[in-house]
Amino acid sequence: MAEEGAGDDGDTLDKVAVLFPLPLPEPFDYRAASSLNVQPGQHVIAPIGSRLVRGVVWGVERNHPGAANLKAIEEVLPGTPVPEVSRAFVEWAAKYVVRPPGDLSRMVVRSPEALFPPPTHTVIAPSGEPPPKLTDARRRVMEEAAKEHVSAAELARRAEASSAVVKGLVDCGALVKLEISEDPPFPNPDLARTGKNLSAIQLAAAEELCVSVREHKFHVALLDGVTGSGKTEVYLEAAAEALKSAPNAQVLVLLPEIALTQAAMSRFEARFGVKPVEWHSAIQQKARRRAWREIAAGRARLIVGARSALFLPYPNLRLIVIDEEHDPSYKQEEGVIYQARDMAVARAKLGDCMVVLASATPSLETLVNAQAGRYAHVQLPSRHGTAELPDVELVDLKLDPPEKGRWLSPKLITGAAQALLRGEQSLFYMNRRGYAPLTLCRACGHRMRSPDSDSWLVEHRYSGRLVCHLTGFSIPKPKECPECKAVDAFTSIGPGVERIEEEVRDSFPNARIEIFSSDTTPNGDAVRDLVARMENNEIDILIGTQIVAKGHNFPNLTFVGVVDADLGLKGGDLRAGERTFQLVSQVAGRAGRHEKPGRALIQTYAPHEPVMQALAAQDRDAFFAAEVAEREAAGMPPYGRLAALIVSAPDEKLAAEAAKTLGEKAPHVEGLDLWGPAPAPLSVIRGMYRHRFLVRANRGVDVSAFLAAWSARVKLHSAVRVQIDVDPYSFL
Ligand code: ADP
Repeated sequence: MAEEGAGDDGDTLDKVAVLFPLPLPEPFDYRAASSLNVQPGQHVIAPIGSRLVRGVVWGVERNHPGAANLKAIEEVLPGTPVPEVSRAFVEWAAKYVVRPPGDLSRMVVRSPEALFPPPTHTVIAPSGEPPPKLTDARRRVMEEAAKEHVSAAELARRAEASSAVVKGLVDCGALVKLEISEDPPFPNPDLARTGKNLSAIQLAAAEELCVSVREHKFHVALLDGVTGSGKTEVYLEAAAEALKSAPNAQVLVLLPEIALTQAAMSRFEARFGVKPVEWHSAIQQKARRRAWREIAAGRARLIVGARSALFLPYPNLRLIVIDEEHDPSYKQEEGVIYQARDMAVARAKLGDCMVVLASATPSLETLVNAQAGRYAHVQLPSRHGTAELPDVELVDLKLDPPEKGRWLSPKLITGAAQALLRGEQSLFYMNRRGYAPLTLCRACGHRMRSPDSDSWLVEHRYSGRLVCHLTGFSIPKPKECPECKAVDAFTSIGPGVERIEEEVRDSFPNARIEIFSSDTTPNGDAVRDLVARMENNEIDILIGTQIVAKGHNFPNLTFVGVVDADLGLKGGDLRAGERTFQLVSQVAGRAGRHEKPGRALIQTYAPHEPVMQALAAQDRDAFFAAEVAEREAAGMPPYGRLAALIVSAPDEKLAAEAAKTLGEKAPHVEGLDLWGPAPAPLSVIRGMYRHRFLVRANRGVDVSAFLAAWSARVKLHSAVRVQIDVDPYSFL
C-alpha cells in the first residue's frame, strides 16, 4: 500500500526535475502526484515565475519527502517521450560544446506541435451496407466514395450531387464519417527490393559495412572512394541491412547541403520504393510536425537531413551515414557551435550505432583515425564502369596569363571551346559570389566598406547592389563616392562569378551560359531546376561557386576550369591547404563522370606549392602525409586540441577590457597553451567589436572543462558576449 504522504488526496509526491529549452544551467525541480507516474523523457508544462513553460522531465525521485515544498507540474503532455539515449546525448554534447543543456534540448524538441495529438479532418467512406433506395445521384455518390475517402463537400462535388444526397446516405448508414489524422505515418521502405548489381569491389565494401551493421554495436567506417565510385550505392546496402535489423530500426543519412537532398531523395526512393523522411531548416511547419512525431515514435525509418537532423529523438537509430564527411558545412557556426560529423560519432557511441563517413576527399582527422585503426577503412579505388578520373593540369598564371583585365587564360578558353565543339559541357569554378569583391573610387582611393562590419562590400551587378557577404547588409550601388563626391568614379577590383560570366559570354556569344551560386539559386526549387537543366544538356557552360562542388552528377560535363585555386589558401587557416585540396579535387571530379573522358585545368600563381602539385598528380596520399607531418609537429588537430573563445561587445573599449579581464583570470593547466587576447581578423561584425583567444592543448586535456571553469570565473558586463568554439574551423 502506498505510504501516506504530504500529497493531495493522500497520494505520495514525486520530485520531478524538468529541463527547459532555455539557457539555464540545470533542470528545475517540481512536484507531481505519484499516481501521475511521471516518467523521464516526458514532456510537461510547468511554471517558471508567473510563466508556464514547456520542458522535458530529466529525472524523477519517487515519493520524495521534500517535494511538498515545490511548485506543481501544470500538465503532462501526450507527446512521445524523449528516449534515454537522446537525453544522454544532450548532456554529453552540452558539456562538450560548453553550453547550457537546455540549449541542446531545444534542438531535440523541434516541433512543439508534435507533442499534441495530430489534428484530424472528417472524410466519408462506404460502410459496406447498400443504401435502401438507389437514385441516380445516390449511385454516383456511392461510386465516387468507393474511389477515395474525401470530405462530404468534395464527394458531392465529384459526384455532381447535392450535399443533401450525401447527408441522406450517411443518415441511412450506407456511408460513414471517418476522422483522419493530418499526420499519417510514412509508408515503410520496401525491404524486398534490391539495389543495382554491384561490382565485385563494391560488393566487398558493402558486405564489410553490412557485417558491422549486423553486429549492432558502436563502430565507425570511412567509406573512401573517388567521386563516381559508387559510395552511395554501397551505403544504400548498409542502410537496407540496418532497416532489416528490427521493425523500428532507423537510418539517418546526413547531407551537407539542402540543395543535394532532392537528388538523394530520388535515388533513395528508387532503392526503397518510398521517399525518405526529409529534415532540414527549410521544411514547413506541418511537415516538420509530422516528421518529428513519426521519428520520435520510431515509425519513420529512413531519414535524410541536414546536420540539425542529428539531434532528433530517434528511439532506435542503427546507422548514421555522413555523406561528403569532409564538408565544412557540417560545422554549425552560429548559436550552438558544433561539428555534426564529430557529434554523430558521439551519438552513435551512446546508442550502439554504426557510422559510415563517406567521402572522396576525407578530412584529415578522419583519415588519421582510419590509418590508426580506430575507424575501419573501406575503399573504392576506381570509378564505376568505364568512367575514368579526369586529367588534371596546372596553368601557371605567370607563364600563361589572361589578357589584361581578364581572368581566364587562353588555355581555359580553348578547353571550353573544344568541349563546346564536341557538344559537351564545361564548368568554370570561381568561389566568390557577385561581380567584384572590391569597389574603389578612382578619384580618392576610397574603398566601399560595410558600415557595421570589418569587411568590403561586394558588387553584385544583377541586383545593382553592394553586399556585405558576412552579414547580408546591402545598399544600391551609389553613383557618387561618399568620401570625395566624385561621380561615376567607382572601379571594380577582382573577379566574382558574375564577372567571369561576362568574360565567358564575350568569348562564347552563342553558348548557353548560366551562373550557379546561392544568389541565382536561392531555394531548393531553383537548385532543382538548374541541376535538371544542366543534366538535360540545356546549358553549355556553367559558372559556379563551391555549391557546384557538392555531389552533382552531370553526365555530359567534360571540362572543368578552376579560375583561382589560390583563393582558399589565403588567410592563415589551419585547414586552408586541406580545404583547397578537397574543394578543387571535388570540382575537378565533376568532369567525365560517365563514358566521356574529363579534363580539368587549375589556374594558380603558386604551381610549386605542395597542394597544387598534389592536385596535378592527383596524389592525395602524398598530400595528406605532408599535412599530417606538419600538424603532428605543431601539436595541431588531430594531434592536439583547439578551441577558440571570442569576446565581443558593442563598444570597442568594453570589448578590449573584457578580453583583458578574461586573460588575467585564465586558469593554468599543464599541457595547454593560451594565445591572446588579440583583436580578431574580422574585428567588427554587426557593430560588435571582437577579440579572440585560441586554446591549444595536448590530446589528453579536457578542453571543454577548462573553458567551462575559465568562463565561470569571470563576471562580465551584461553587454559583453562570450562565444566558445570547441574545434574551431573558422579563425576569423
Ligand atoms: P559516389 O557516391 O562515389 O560519387 P555514386 O554512388 O553516385 O558514386 O555512383 C556514380 C554513378 O555511377 C551513379 O550514377 C550511380 O548510379 C552509378 N553506379 C555506381 N555503381 C553502379 C553499379 N554497380 N551499377 C550501375 N550503376 C552504378
